[in-house]
Amino acid sequence: MMRMAFLSLHSSPVGKAGSKDTGGMSTYLRGLSGALGEMGHEVDLFTRVTGPDEAEVKTLSPGVRLVSVDDGAGPLSKNELYPHLPAMVDAIKKFCRTENISFDLIFSNYWLSGCVGRELSKGWQVPHLVMFHTLGRAKNEACREESEPGLRLAEEEKLACSSDQIIVAAPLEKERIINYYSLRKDNVKVIPCGVDRQLFHPLSRPAAKEETGLTGNKVILAIGRIEPVKGYELLIRAAVLLPAEDKVKVVIVGGDVKSEIQVAHLKELAADLGISNRIIFSGLVEHQKLPLYYNAADVTVIPSYYESFGLVALESLACGTPLVAGSTGIFPELLKPYTKKTAELLTKKKSPGILLENRISSAWAEAIRICYIHHSTPLDSSVINDILATYNWRTAALSFIRLIQELHTK
Ligand code: UDP
Repeated sequence: MMRMAFLSLHSSPVGKAGSKDTGGMSTYLRGLSGALGEMGHEVDLFTRVTGPDEAEVKTLSPGVRLVSVDDGAGPLSKNELYPHLPAMVDAIKKFCRTENISFDLIFSNYWLSGCVGRELSKGWQVPHLVMFHTLGRAKNEACREESEPGLRLAEEEKLACSSDQIIVAAPLEKERIINYYSLRKDNVKVIPCGVDRQLFHPLSRPAAKEETGLTGNKVILAIGRIEPVKGYELLIRAAVLLPAEDKVKVVIVGGDVKSEIQVAHLKELAADLGISNRIIFSGLVEHQKLPLYYNAADVTVIPSYYESFGLVALESLACGTPLVAGSTGIFPELLKPYTKKTAELLTKKKSPGILLENRISSAWAEAIRICYIHHSTPLDSSVINDILATYNWRTAALSFIRLIQELHTK
């Protein structure tokens, strides 16, 4: 049995996914820690206190505790956090002294937690593992509208070169990190994400459409935080090109008050293109309610410039809804480009969707249309099971443990 400290300081693992600073990383931490807990390990997920009456320690699932440490600085956005990291280090050390606990490893998530983990690991003399979730440099390179600060880029480079192990969720991300920082291959380990198939599974599509008020429409779904790197303009530009008789509705789920500017920009684009009536912004939807949306959809579209994994893809496929996605994150592992051969598989409903290697709106419109025409019913369970066989949290937890054991014997 191992005791592990997971750091998720800028965003709570139980925060509202789909809001500005909370998304796949929280789903990832709950999934991985839950599976480790089930295997008999103990995980403390450290995050920052966000409200006045928050309990310091909360049990989330067997073996897994959420520890909310107070650095005394009150509510802060992630951009304001850096100067308070030393206080966070002190708060975590104090908690561990009071509880008289020590850990076998530190697993830091996102660069801000990485800076804290680096300091803690010096004193505790335990391996420090880092997962960036996204890289500032990759975001800036992929999307002109993103401008991640130089401080982040510099700290990510330092962490990449000094941590005991970097974890990524997709082979493309491994390649990227090795190239960026000239790392050795064995410094970077791919541990793919899982998906909760008890929550995400096929339901009746007509019933799901009725419940979401979308009966009679071809439903194109996009889910995630609303920020420039998600590339939603491309989806809107593709939606213009779809024939009126298809009665398309594009449903964009996610975003909170902090996303208002970005949402307004997308609404303006839709209005300029004359398709405001085709686009629905649902705002943030509780994670537990998302299966209804995936099941109401005829196709899920992920037009992101950059993803380090893209959990939405697994959630969609687990619900039997095909995907159209770009060549980033885990998508090239799940999908193939549209060719004669894959077209045949699509018509037989043996393919989970289409990979796009360009950002040409007409190509995206065509792929989206092919998917919703050929998938008027959900994907076969055999297709879903084949593709999702390796993506489960238990497999991720086993790889994680194997990695720790290797690090301890090094
Ligand atoms: N999500 C959610 N409600 C929303 C929007 C998103 O629960 O309104 C969840 C979604 O189910 C997924 C995560 O947020 O688990 C998004 O993860 P992904 O890896 O696709 O994107 P990221 O947020 O990491 O960029």
